[in-house]
Amino acid sequence: MLIANADDTAVFEYWHVNTFDYLDFSASIMFDWVDVNMGASDGQKRNLSAKAAYDATAATGVDLAGYDGFIVLMLPGTGLIPNPEAGQPGQPDFLTYTFDGGTGELPDQRPAAVFPVMSSDHMFMCHATGHVPGYHHTYGLMNNGTDWNQTDKNYIESPESREPYDIMSSASFGSRWENPAETHYFGSPTYFGPKVAGWPFFNAFKMGPAPARAQVHLWDGAAVPKASLIEIPTPKGSSKKFVRLYRATSYLWFPTLLIVKPSTEGASGQGRIYVEYRDAQGWDVGVKISGSDLSRRAVVVHALADTPSDGTRCWYRGRILVPLETDGDLIVPDQKLVIRVIDVSPSLEYVDLELVETSGHEVHIDQSIHDIEVNVVNETVRHTPCGDLHSGTYSLDRNSVFTPVTYGYGGYGAPDRPSLKLTWQVGSVTVAPGNHVINPISTDGKSVTIHTTLDSTTDVLVLVSSASDGAYSVEVRCTASELDGSNAQDAADDFEPIGQYTGLRRTDAVALRACLSKLLAVVRLRPRDLLIPPGPDPFRENENNLINLERLEKAAKLVDIVSAKTGVELRSMVKLLYGSLRGGGNVGRD
Ligand SMILES: [Zn+2]
Repeated sequence: MLIANADDTAVFEYWHVNTFDYLDFSASIMFDWVDVNMGASDGQKRNLSAKAAYDATAATGVDLAGYDGFIVLMLPGTGLIPNPEAGQPGQPDFLTYTFDGGTGELPDQRPAAVFPVMSSDHMFMCHATGHVPGYHHTYGLMNNGTDWNQTDKNYIESPESREPYDIMSSASFGSRWENPAETHYFGSPTYFGPKVAGWPFFNAFKMGPAPARAQVHLWDGAAVPKASLIEIPTPKGSSKKFVRLYRATSYLWFPTLLIVKPSTEGASGQGRIYVEYRDAQGWDVGVKISGSDLSRRAVVVHALADTPSDGTRCWYRGRILVPLETDGDLIVPDQKLVIRVIDVSPSLEYVDLELVETSGHEVHIDQSIHDIEVNVVNETVRHTPCGDLHSGTYSLDRNSVFTPVTYGYGGYGAPDRPSLKLTWQVGSVTVAPGNHVINPISTDGKSVTIHTTLDSTTDVLVLVSSASDGAYSVEVRCTASELDGSNAQDAADDFEPIGQYTGLRRTDAVALRACLSKLLAVVRLRPRDLLIPPGPDPFRENENNLINLERLEKAAKLVDIVSAKTGVELRSMVKLLYGSLRGGGNVGRD
């Protein structure tokens, strides 16, 4: 549990791994158990427990002078005190209490972490062990973690020691749950690890999260390998900086920590900003990938700032959820810096960030299109080397998903600060949340029927056309503002169902493309040597396909040289695929 085990999950290994071997405890020794005599309530003071253990160990003759700090295991870590109600019916003579645990110090001021075995889980032990070599608490969200008497109405709140992404937060991880007059929020980035044989406490295996990379660097810059670090000055004016950051648990030769240094950085680093990407992996496996828990997979920002009494500390300054939601950026409080996540790798292994001095507000719309076949007439079948190909007149319902992407709104990332207000208009109709049917007027003046679904959490809008309305275009407009309506910006896109078309069935077109690859293989060409792949823009796709048509016609001539039969087959395929682009097709002309 403490030094090493087969799963590499022991407390020392936690710190060893998370400092990239820098902190290794290799000169540490586990001393023999000693018995100590303590007063009835001495266990309620961790410094007294530490002193008793230290004195009893020193009395066995070992030399404790050369050690920087100590860890004391108290077994079982419980004591008995006289019951003030003893003698009354059903009352025992003594009550059991649990010893005080945590990191204190010996009379000579060397640190000592005290772990009552019956009440110490793995997460708590990693936290308190972190204090011994000098890790401090982080600061950030207002929380109730420092309210030791939670039964009274005196709600104590502090920004100390609790945020969702660092082991030095310990236990409450930024949660606020006491005062009913305030917004409540909750973070729990821990998880239950493999059982450690012989450890008696039922909750002993609550583990994680990793220390914030920011905390490791602040503790000792040498504990973060150069290869995993990117350091840049704060961008100025309109200049932008682009950075690719890998998840914090990646191998050390990938950049996992970004440091942004302002020109005004203080002597203790005040103003410095740390950015890291925390995914649900390794010691962060307890990080959540959905839901309202604060400890979601995210790009996490810390900054160094002074505290009222503890000096310069790492402050949690918010996060940007991954995958991206509506609010894709964050303005670092008290700094003129906007951090935007502009892309996330498909495997979620890395994120691409853009950093720029605070600018205005922006909103963009992403549209993804799916056409669903609802009717077909006059269908004919052709038997070809590529299998049976169907042509006919097909009716399609268009199903478009409009995703808003905003920059610059509600950037503080505090959970009680709602990020922004978003409204959607289709034509002149304002879309309400939930499922509805609307009848906007299209750009050519006809009334059309559209099914709308607006998700009130993500602000994603889904529009479904009715094939019987034919082809039309209607404007889709998205307006973003702060909750009070300030900083309003809008963006527009078009919803353009095609209604009906005559030609090759869409699924056959896919099969045809695959078959085309085989024919091209005869002359050792790959489709990607010739063809521009379909993109998101239907207009450009048409243009691209005209280019593809030309290229394939040239390829067919090459194929003729190798195999006249394959050349003929290729021409007929090309005609099927792209013939309609030339209004019926002069495919094969010279
Ligand atoms: Zn602590």
